[in-house]
Amino acid sequence: CGIVGYFGKRNASEILVDGLRRMEYRGYDSAGIACLYDGEIGVVKCPGKIKGLREKVDASGLGVLAASTLGIGHTRWATHGPPNEINAHPHMDASGHFVMVHNGIIENYKEIRKGLSQQGIECISDTDSEALIQLIAYCYKDNLEKAVSEALKKVKGTYGIVVLTDHEPDKLVTARCGSPIVLGLGKDETLVASDAAAIIPHTRDAVYLEDFDMAVITADGVTMFDLQHAPVNRETTTMDWDE
Ligand code: GLU
Repeated sequence: CGIVGYFGKRNASEILVDGLRRMEYRGYDSAGIACLYDGEIGVVKCPGKIKGLREKVDASGLGVLAASTLGIGHTRWATHGPPNEINAHPHMDASGHFVMVHNGIIENYKEIRKGLSQQGIECISDTDSEALIQLIAYCYKDNLEKAVSEALKKVKGTYGIVVLTDHEPDKLVTARCGSPIVLGLGKDETLVASDAAAIIPHTRDAVYLEDFDMAVITADGVTMFDLQHAPVNRETTTMDWDE
């Protein structure tokens, strides 16, 4: 339902949880964040309110969450599987090296799960989303955006996603089809979200992706391209709403 991602110099977990709170008005049943620091991915998620997530993040005392300056967050409105901790996003692949938030519905997730299972990869949640991050991890050789585009070519359905891997701690990768993604270009930091509400406190410079666009996000900005890796150009707009 709500997606937020951050790559910058400030504490990521605070910005992510605050971004999720700003998208609460959309409705949701569970929430979570994942942050990367020093080769380690820390994930905190739970059913229920952002307040509960915030308490869990504070109580976790996780070194990763305290130190990280990049991460992703999600509020879930369950379509496949009940709202519980396992089904909440971010979803991690079986190797533990890849993590993703997803809005939308992967229509052919059963087929993808079956193919993965034949390769010895089993999903642990009830969601359609987990099949996609397991597939991205399976497609990975040495470049995250290539793995994401390869996986997305096999997907039927709708998605707004943000992915990160500890193999390439210098980037987040996002993509969209039928589910909005907006990039926020700040000073020494870049945000990504499904809703401008999560970005507006930090920057007014925004770029809206179009269907089948992808982007690599770093603290210095974004590079945009299509699923075939041909560059695309999207206009930067200045958002002028009140907070
Ligand atoms: N289909 C996914 C799920 O059930 C994502 C739902 C959403 O957009 O929040 O977990």
